[in-house]
Amino acid sequence: MNSGFTPLIKADNLAKILGLKELYIKDDTVAHPTLSFKDRVVAVALTRAREFGFDTVACASTGNLAHSVSAHGAKAGFKRFVFIPASLEKSKIIASLVYEPNVIAVEGNYDEVNRLCSEIANRYRWAFVNINIRPYYAEGSKTHGYEIIEQLGWRAPDNVVVPCASGSLLTKIWKSFKEMKEIGLIKDVKAKAFAAQATGCSPIVTALKQGVDVIKPVKPDTVAKSLAIGNPADGFYALQVIRESGGFGEDVSDEEIIDAMKLLAKTEGVFAETAGGVTLASTIKLIKSGHIAKDSLTVICITGNGLKTQEALAGSMKEPYHIKPNIGAFEEALKKINSGGKL
Ligand SMILES: *Cc1c(COP(=O)(O)O)cnc(C)c1O
Repeated sequence: MNSGFTPLIKADNLAKILGLKELYIKDDTVAHPTLSFKDRVVAVALTRAREFGFDTVACASTGNLAHSVSAHGAKAGFKRFVFIPASLEKSKIIASLVYEPNVIAVEGNYDEVNRLCSEIANRYRWAFVNINIRPYYAEGSKTHGYEIIEQLGWRAPDNVVVPCASGSLLTKIWKSFKEMKEIGLIKDVKAKAFAAQATGCSPIVTALKQGVDVIKPVKPDTVAKSLAIGNPADGFYALQVIRESGGFGEDVSDEEIIDAMKLLAKTEGVFAETAGGVTLASTIKLIKSGHIAKDSLTVICITGNGLKTQEALAGSMKEPYHIKPNIGAFEEALKKINSGGKL
C-alpha cells in the first residue's frame, strides 16, 4: 500500500530557534496510507502472516497500529480484530472503524489490552502482529532508519531522537544503522540514540535517569496516548541501545507536549500528533542539558499525523476571527490584527 519513503525535511527554521547547526525531521506524518510509522511494521507483518497462511490478523493497539492493521488487512482480504483501550480519542477510534474491522474496546489501559491479547493469541490461530508474529513487525521499523541514512546522503546522523512506547522503534532504528555499516553502505556509525517519553508514562526514561537495568511498570496518565505503554516489551533492549550509543532520554509534561506540537507546526509546517510533541519537547530539554551538542547533526523522528489527535489541542489555540461578510468588517478586523489586539 505504498508504506514508507517519507520525507526527510531540513528544519532550518526550527534549528535556528533551538540553536542547532543541523536539524532534520524524519516526517512519518505523511506519505503512509494511515499517516503513522505503523504502516511500516504492518506492511512487513501482514506479508509474513499471508506467507504463514493465516486468515485473520489482529493487534493490541494504542491507536495507530489499529488504523494500520485495519487498512492493510482490508486491502489484503484478511479478517481483522483490533483491540484498543476504550479511553482512546474519538477521532482515533473512527479512523479504525471506517475500514470495518472488528474493533474491541477494552475497559482497561493498554497493558491490560496487551495481556488479554496474549491470552487470545494462545487460544485462536490468529496473527497478532505485535504479539505472536512480533519479530516480523519489529523488523519493519528498520525502514525508518534505512531511509534516514539514504536521505542524508549515505551517512548516519550524530543524534537521533525517538519517541518510545514499547521501545521497539528505537532499537530497530539503531539496528538499521548498524546493518548499513555491516553491508558497507556507510563507513561509520557514531549516532547517539535518545528516548523521548511523556512524564505521565516514562518507564524507560526513568530507568535511564536512575541508572538501573530493571524497568518498573507504571500506570499511564498522559495526553500522548499513542505512547502510553506502562510496561514496555522492548524497554530493556532500548536501555541497552541507548547506553551503548552514548545517548540518553528525557520526559516532558502534557503542557510541554502541546507547546511543542504548536512550535513544530508554526516553524516547519508539520502537524504532528501528540507523540511528535513528545519528541520535540524532549529534544529541547536534551539540548538545554548539553546531551545534544549544538554543532551536531540531529534527526528527530516525527511518527504520526496531528489530524489523529486534534482533541489534545482543544482550548490551547487562538480562536478564528469572526466577521460579517462585508469589506468594512474585514478591514475593521485587519486593523485589530495589525495592532496585535484581540477582536
Ligand atoms: C507506536 C508508536 C510509537 C513508538 O512505538 P514503539 O512501541 O516504541 O515501537 C511512536 N510514535 C507513534 C505515533 C506510535 O504510534
